[in-house]
Amino acid sequence: MDPISPLEQALHAARALVLADLVAGEVAQADVVSLVEDSVAQRRWWVEQWPDGADYVAGLVAQDVQDALLERYGRWPLCPVCGSGDPHALDVEPELGPNPHWVCSQAGVKVAAVGSLGRATGGMTSS
Ligand SMILES: [Zn+2]
Repeated sequence: MDPISPLEQALHAARALVLADLVAGEVAQADVVSLVEDSVAQRRWWVEQWPDGADYVAGLVAQDVQDALLERYGRWPLCPVCGSGDPHALDVEPELGPNPHWVCSQAGVKVAAVGSLGRATGGMTSS
């Protein structure tokens, strides 16, 4: 078996995290999954140029997919914290850094780590 490079591991992890959040938001249709694949392919090139950015890939893929979804479907992920007012999307913070989180900039709260949105929006995983 070929060993998997740290860069490939970071890309695999980013893909899995963003897909988990898409599943949590029930928007993981085939064409949406392909948006993730497109982003991962672009970020593979990016991180090959700048290997130190491997920790940043998850946050970047999340933002790429968010931008792509905004054009095709609308805002994602919708804020689960604010019960009233206009529906609004969460933002990724830091935009370029490790351990990215979804935050609501209106309420000023961290909602969930990227990849853990299902737990924040939850209720669906009751056992
Ligand atoms: Zn909010």
